Amino acid sequence: MLKGKTALVTGSTSGIGKAIATRLAKEGCNIVLNGFGDPGEVDALKRSLASEHGVMVGFSSADLTRIPAIENMMTYVGEEFGGADIVVNNAGMQFVSPLEDFPVDKWNLIIALNLSAAFHTTRLAIPGMKQKGWGRIINIGSAHSKVASPFKAAYVAAKHGITGLTKVTALEGATHGIRCNAICPGYVFTPLVENQVADTARARGMTEEEVKRDVLLAAQPTKEFVTVEQIAAFAAFLCSPDADQINGADLSIDGGWTSQ
Ligand code: NAD
Repeated sequence: MLKGKTALVTGSTSGIGKAIATRLAKEGCNIVLNGFGDPGEVDALKRSLASEHGVMVGFSSADLTRIPAIENMMTYVGEEFGGADIVVNNAGMQFVSPLEDFPVDKWNLIIALNLSAAFHTTRLAIPGMKQKGWGRIINIGSAHSKVASPFKAAYVAAKHGITGLTKVTALEGATHGIRCNAICPGYVFTPLVENQVADTARARGMTEEEVKRDVLLAAQPTKEFVTVEQIAAFAAFLCSPDADQINGADLSIDGGWTSQ
């Protein structure tokens, strides 16, 4: 379906981003991976995607909290792949603290990674997309793009911000064949959440099973985690012609969490 296109998926060495990169490779896309991780594991992922799906696979280790690193990554994608036709802004991190104690450096880091990095990849990808008359930008938001939870000031602010950026990008790209949407997942059991489970269990004196059931899934009416494969399938759909008229939307995949 997407043969010949190139997708840059940020934060794709783990979790949701890895699943999206894998699914887009299956659809025939060349892939540029990004993120942190063990070099051997990244290399193995690159090789398995390339050999299983017959696509080109690149990698940038850019730290997306640093603007020059993002610029270098986008130059690499331009030079080696002829630019990104699809950009999935997925890299993200979490930090939990009451507002009055929220470390300022954590605030700055989360805003830089979860919000500003998407602005930078978008501004740098758009000229090439306009030239080709086609582009798809998918921002990974969250249920926290729509509702808040206590102690997650930076994350909730960044995730609300990303839906605003999504809407502006959608409007500016609309007559250039560019579509931009946000996927807003509820809880997905990835390393990001796994760490929260362990921390919360310690902090509240609960077992990890109790934290999953009584803390995390308390908000998710289906009482089930969203899977990374479900999000990846959603992302692939948004890149398909059937989704051509979906633009500027913040699309929930949260088991009903934000319907409450
Ligand atoms: P994860 O921790 O499994 O993966 C995060 C990825 O981002 C990794 O590849 C990591 O190397 C990369 N990364 C971290 N800091 C980076 C930096 N400075 N520069 C470049 N890459 C960096 O997390 P995940 O759960 O797969 O989350 C992916 C996205 O989905 C995030 O934006 C997150 O907010 C969002 N999300 C997750 C959930 C969930 O329940 N897991 C729910 C809603 C939204």
